[in-house]
Amino acid sequence: MARYVAEPFKIKAVEPLTLTTRDERQQYLKDAHYNLFGLRSEHVYIDMLSDSGSGAMSDRQWAGIMTGDESYAGSRGYYRLRDAVQEVIGYRMMQPVHQGRAAEHVLYPNLLSEGQYSVANMHFDTTRGHVALCRATPKDLVVSEARDTQAQAPFKGNMDVPALREFIGTVGADRIGVIIMTITNNTAGGQPVSLANIRETAEVAREHGIPLVIDAARFAENAYFIKTREPGQTDRSIIDITHETFSYADAFTMSAKKDAIVNIGGLVGVREDGELFRKVQELTVPYEGFVTYGGLAGRDLEALAIGLFEGVEFDYLHYRIGQVAYLGGLLRDAGVPIQDPPGGHAIFIDAKRVLPHIPYHQFPAQALALELYLEAGVRGCDIGSFMLDPDPVTGEQPESEMEFTRLCLPRRVYTQAHLDVVAEAIISIRDRAEAISGYGIVSQPPVLRHFTARLRPLQ
Ligand SMILES: *Cc1c(COP(=O)(O)O)cnc(C)c1O
Repeated sequence: MARYVAEPFKIKAVEPLTLTTRDERQQYLKDAHYNLFGLRSEHVYIDMLSDSGSGAMSDRQWAGIMTGDESYAGSRGYYRLRDAVQEVIGYRMMQPVHQGRAAEHVLYPNLLSEGQYSVANMHFDTTRGHVALCRATPKDLVVSEARDTQAQAPFKGNMDVPALREFIGTVGADRIGVIIMTITNNTAGGQPVSLANIRETAEVAREHGIPLVIDAARFAENAYFIKTREPGQTDRSIIDITHETFSYADAFTMSAKKDAIVNIGGLVGVREDGELFRKVQELTVPYEGFVTYGGLAGRDLEALAIGLFEGVEFDYLHYRIGQVAYLGGLLRDAGVPIQDPPGGHAIFIDAKRVLPHIPYHQFPAQALALELYLEAGVRGCDIGSFMLDPDPVTGEQPESEMEFTRLCLPRRVYTQAHLDVVAEAIISIRDRAEAISGYGIVSQPPVLRHFTARLRPLQ
């Protein structure tokens, strides 16, 4: 039986939601050309499109917004943020930026050059993009359990360390500009990485003189999994685990829109003062703005400094990961196949198993996401073949290894009853799955089509 961990907060401000009828949703979907990114958010009842920047700030963060110092240079918020990063992460050198991809923009050109490789457990798509902008090649070496949704393993986000050694042996250490650990491993389903695995990866990196960077968007959720799943870690505090995690790396990039619970913001951190940190600051000025604000308002710096502390509170994390486990448990108990055990920020439904009669080129995960919107006004998205652009030369549709319908949980936003609505809708869809049909493409842009492609139902 799935058990819900009660909220460690009460509600002070509310945002009304619109309830729509099935007929209205049918029309809205048609108007959006069956692309969920085309919907107006006011026509969505429960929005699980992303957990990025969609969280609810606390009263303390809102108070910080009011007291934010908007001086162009040397604002109070900058120094508060620097102290917060030192306390939560353990690094003295930090640079605020406007979001995670901006952190990648000011860090990676300093580490990667043309013809080199970047090796990661898995690159997030913006990281992959920034590696490509440096004319380098991204290589993913995640453990094989990550690709089996039914394999029960505590750390399905880990780096395959033997494969990493082999890859370095094959291409040569001088051709690898950086090793990246994405915690949690978003692309694998928000799956955690163990402390032992981070340590081993760091040893390999050090042995070969390759810098190790942590992609830290969900560092606090990852620390929670280490505390609750890794032998010998139970009695440690989240901050203690976080400090050890970052002590193995040379630098980190962070989208603060995730675990730092702000609506906009990002960070770069460098463990030691020196050349690399200076270069990050130099790139920040033309791309993001002066170093003491880095593309953010003074109020944002303040909210971020407060959010960093709230994001590592154990009771909050217990509730947060508990919400994901609760929704996952409702689905598992009803026999709906998901990436199991669930990760830290989202449920990934295995749409290939729910809709086995829909072939990959008719986008089963997109079909399930659309049906869920029609059924209950819940918005998720496709992480499957619809997300993969056709081959630019042959125009052929590639088949994704996984067909996931992803449901993200915004932080501190929805209640247990909302999650019950979501689970009931999915279960009722599963019970009439054979009647659901696939979708075809009407028109699409050449790249990143899933944001704007137009679709039509095939029936
Ligand atoms: C969200 C995310 C990013 C990019 O951050 P933005 O704030 O969206 O630019 C990078 N890496 C991971 C793992 C992420 O989840």
